Amino acid sequence: MKDSNCIFCKIANGEIPTNTLYEDDYFRVIFDLSPASKGHALVLPKEHFSNVFELGEEEASRAMVVAKKVATALKEITGCEGFNILQNNGEIAGQTVFHFHMHLIPRYSGDGVKITWNHGKPTDEELKELTARVNEVLK
Ligand code: AMP
Ligand code: ZN
Repeated sequence: MKDSNCIFCKIANGEIPTNTLYEDDYFRVIFDLSPASKGHALVLPKEHFSNVFELGEEEASRAMVVAKKVATALKEITGCEGFNILQNNGEIAGQTVFHFHMHLIPRYSGDGVKITWNHGKPTDEELKELTARVNEVLK
């Protein structure tokens, strides 16, 4: 399904022309309009899924294969030293466009890109309880 109000639906389906790094029946990969680093690209499914929770298992597997393929090409052409592949779900997690997408971010020394958090110290008890609850949901 497409969402007629969604900019990424329009881009992914070719209604808004853009540089296409890769395209198949399910995805289009484009450059990010405001890149974190040189070569920052986005993997967009052609169908509208707001976030990872709406994505089917089939689409999720395909998305990772596309991400790996294009990241490998970007690594080769940019000569980057590292790579972040990530995606955000929900405003609190930094999502600003509510059409599932994966960020492909080549990393260079001194690029100033910050993807970081403070490291916590959970107790064994907390981890045991969380593990039991997740195991229960996934049973
Ligand atoms: P997120 O914050 O994870 O939702 O990522 C949204 C990304 O989409 C940001 O990095 C934006 O720079 C990028 N973006 C927004 N509009 C466009 C557009 N029209 N074409 C390409 N990238 C876009
Ligand atoms: Zn959409």
